[in-house]
Amino acid sequence: MSTYDYIIVGAGAAGLNLALAMHADAYFKDNSILILDKDAKDKNDRTWSFWEKGTGHWDHLITKSWEKGAVKANNETIHLDLQNYTYKTLKSIKFYEFAKQTLKDSVIDWKFENVEKVVQNSSGAAVITNLETYEASFVFDSRIPSSYSLTNVNYLNVAQHFKGWVIETETDVFDDTRFIMMDYNLKDGDSTSFTYILPFTKRLALVEFTYFSPEIVEDSTYDFYLTKYIKEQLHIDQFEIKETEKGVIPMTNFPFEDFDQKHIIKIGTAGGWVKASSGYSFKNCERKSKNIIDFLKSGKEFYRDKTPKKYKHYDQIFLEVLTKENHFGEELFYRMYKNNSIQTIFRFLDEQSSFSEDLKIILNLSSSPFIKGFLRHLKAGFNA
Ligand SMILES: Cc1cc2nc3c(=O)[nH]c(=O)nc-3n(C[C@H](O)[C@H](O)[C@H](O)COP(=O)(O)OP(=O)(O)OC[C@H]3O[C@@H](n4cnc5c(N)ncnc54)[C@H](O)[C@@H]3O)c2cc1C
Repeated sequence: MSTYDYIIVGAGAAGLNLALAMHADAYFKDNSILILDKDAKDKNDRTWSFWEKGTGHWDHLITKSWEKGAVKANNETIHLDLQNYTYKTLKSIKFYEFAKQTLKDSVIDWKFENVEKVVQNSSGAAVITNLETYEASFVFDSRIPSSYSLTNVNYLNVAQHFKGWVIETETDVFDDTRFIMMDYNLKDGDSTSFTYILPFTKRLALVEFTYFSPEIVEDSTYDFYLTKYIKEQLHIDQFEIKETEKGVIPMTNFPFEDFDQKHIIKIGTAGGWVKASSGYSFKNCERKSKNIIDFLKSGKEFYRDKTPKKYKHYDQIFLEVLTKENHFGEELFYRMYKNNSIQTIFRFLDEQSSFSEDLKIILNLSSSPFIKGFLRHLKAGFNA
């Protein structure tokens, strides 16, 4: 059996953010670290976007960034002037390649194996793969617990599910200075569904038809709405599909943190790092990796997530609305973007807003479905 100080299961956004942060920190220079993944991580399997202030860790890897955006809802265009924030996009393959290159000659081993089981013992945990068994003092595990499911009625479950095409056109059609966060001009019936656009150039853009809804749709449904949106909203007749991406991101109050043990810490989506009301998590992978590093240095016995409780309550009210009154999504996000500055919204979603900012956002969202969602949350015991 091979023994390491730390084992990271999963070389995705969370695992690699953590591995790169450990690699960059002299505290871990004498430690042995192993990364295990069942996938070779040699394909561009997703595009990660996030906002941040000023320069960031991954600026040398980003494909494109924007200082302006827009939300289109209720037949109105709300212009977002990001000011001190920038919205950035990064192709996952660039991140994987950078991580492989950076960690190549380091103390960190990277193996291509399928993890079948992680079991805690008295001094650490054992990781059983299809090929070997490893031991470590701490295991950081990005496998989603098998008890999580979109159909689990014990929790509020919405998914951010989408399909996107990177399309190329023959003429200039896109305003590449402005990304579209949400365009509700085309919806699938009454559902919270919209189009998200990242214009890389005037002729190349990612166009994604997205739902925040409790049920997944057939592949052909995304294709139908993508084609319709491109033709009727963007007025494009001729285009070539250069890439396709699909995803299902949990937006839920499922208690991922409950699966943490003394020597096994769940990370990424499996650790509840996805913001339940927005579906974003890439930036959280950077922040929460730092929290884990602080914990390892602290010598404390148990890792505890530092998210202030109030945000769990806010997220739950959003989930109450989206699960029970999904038709209200357009109005909900319209009110949010119309009545608050984008800087306040980013701080709120980053869980860094002040109480007065929270109150302003909540009052602006105040409506019958939102109040009913609040009351249902209250009735459910305000458990977060
Ligand atoms: C298509 C798509 C686009 C997204 N876009 C954004 C975005 O723009 N902004 C944003 O903030 N978030 C986005 N997300 C959400 C989130 O950031 C990503 O899902 C992110 O990759 C989650 O990180 P993770 O490490 O938890 O999971 P992953 O990145 O999926 O990594 C998990 C890793 O674990 C490995 N693994 C799983 N099981 C095993 C096993 N048994 N043995 C060994 N290895 C295993 C997998 O192969 C994988 O490499 C997107 C998600 C998807 C699917």
